[in-house]
Amino acid sequence: MKKKKAEHGKTNNMNCIFCKIIEGSIPSKKIFENDELIAFHDIHPIDKVHFLITPKKHIENLISCNEADKEILSNMLLLAPKLAKEQGLQGFRTMINSGVEGGQEVFHIHFHVYGGSTKLAKI
Ligand code: 5GP
Ligand code: ZN
Repeated sequence: MKKKKAEHGKTNNMNCIFCKIIEGSIPSKKIFENDELIAFHDIHPIDKVHFLITPKKHIENLISCNEADKEILSNMLLLAPKLAKEQGLQGFRTMINSGVEGGQEVFHIHFHVYGGSTKLAKI
């Protein structure tokens, strides 16, 4: 059965900056959007190219994910190389900050995708 768009694209936390970006009340430099996911350039890029992939559904972070989020998470990951290529990257780094102690500042799950400098530092 086809999923209803309203269900799929539901945003549910209006105190959340990324929900506001998804809703369109805060502008962003969007590079991708479908019923489930959105991607936009980070406002404070740490590399030549730096964008974020995030679901329209408000999920806090990896810590709060469960089995039901499997499909969203895999779709987010699979989108990364496609968008990176479109942005001219031959290779890239992905980063997911989870929780305050993991350096997370925006509590709406997102994958950072960045690259474009000559060589990323080894970690
Ligand atoms: P976190 O530290 O939560 O993993 O990353 C949050 C990211 O969101 C940061 O890299 C920050 O620059 C970015 N960010 C925060 N507010 C905005 C905004 O209003 N617009 C955009 N495009 N990026 C934002
Ligand atoms: Zn949100």
